Amino acid sequence: MKALVYHGPGKKSWEEKPKPGITEATDAIVKIYKTTICGTDLHILKGDVPEVTDGRILGHEGVGIIEEVGTAVTDFKKGDRVLISCISSCGKCEYCKKGMYSHCTKGGWILGHLIDGTQAEFVRIPFADNSLYHIPENVDEEAVVMLSDILPTGFECGVLNGQIKPGDTVAIVGAGPIGLAVLLTAQFYTPSLIIMVDVDDYRLQETMKFGATHTINSQKEDAVAKIFELTEKKGVDVAIEAVGIPATFELCESIIAPGGHIANIGVHGKSVALHLETSWSKNITITTRLVDTVTTPMLLKTVSSKKIDPTKLITHHFPLQNIIEAYDTFQNAARDKTLKVILTNDSEK
Ligand SMILES: [Zn+2]
Ligand SMILES: [Zn+2]
Repeated sequence: MKALVYHGPGKKSWEEKPKPGITEATDAIVKIYKTTICGTDLHILKGDVPEVTDGRILGHEGVGIIEEVGTAVTDFKKGDRVLISCISSCGKCEYCKKGMYSHCTKGGWILGHLIDGTQAEFVRIPFADNSLYHIPENVDEEAVVMLSDILPTGFECGVLNGQIKPGDTVAIVGAGPIGLAVLLTAQFYTPSLIIMVDVDDYRLQETMKFGATHTINSQKEDAVAKIFELTEKKGVDVAIEAVGIPATFELCESIIAPGGHIANIGVHGKSVALHLETSWSKNITITTRLVDTVTTPMLLKTVSSKKIDPTKLITHHFPLQNIIEAYDTFQNAARDKTLKVILTNDSEK
């Protein structure tokens, strides 16, 4: 089979790899139908994730068709259409029992990281019963690809941790795919204001179509001053960090109202200043989380009933074999006006 293989920082190729087989009784082999590229894959290619070794197939998102299941798999059979969760989980360990699948002692985020991933014609999924989901009949597969990672990440780490309530004022810092996933799912709770902050005018303009009430280009305007002006000088009830650099986290600290929640989603590579000299008395809550994907079944229902439409996040389509070109488009998001790309495997093998 063909797969996108990582060969150390800055090096990747679309090449021949052995087709995966069942190694544990709880495994399933899935023929990939549609997959995508994540910002995390770009971090890996930059060399920011050193646990990823030369020869690893990347990718942790996708939908496909079950090709084969191990003897212990009971909920899936050959031919089933499935959503692959970015988190693999045994369902039995201490963390799984708490609903913290991301910290599963035998799984967690391992796909396209510690084991071979989904940017391939076939993938081996461990703990298939707990790591795959059936795709309802009436649901668009491309919408479902957005449920592998970005929708549950935006919803769990941003919206749920931020405890957005009806009438709240919300700022989402970062209008990339994750920030947009927060924007879509925040509206389940009818906040009164959703202010999007980014440095890319195209992305900001798109957010208005997704339900943002205001946008701020923080390179051109004073974001703090503008947010205080929009919130009767109080700041926002919920500030969601969806970038992962010190400046954006510190912006969240500067704009939070008393009693507010700062929900971090960004993957941070550097330490950030915690401004306790101003926040010690403000009754604020700061949260961090890695997506657990415990809300995936609920999100599938909202997509199935058309309460949200994640296909709005998809800007580009490529055949799977053109994945190198798709990476170029995803890496040059501002140049190509890219949000999410969809790669379709139309091989008959
Ligand atoms: Zn991802
Ligand atoms: Zn577990």
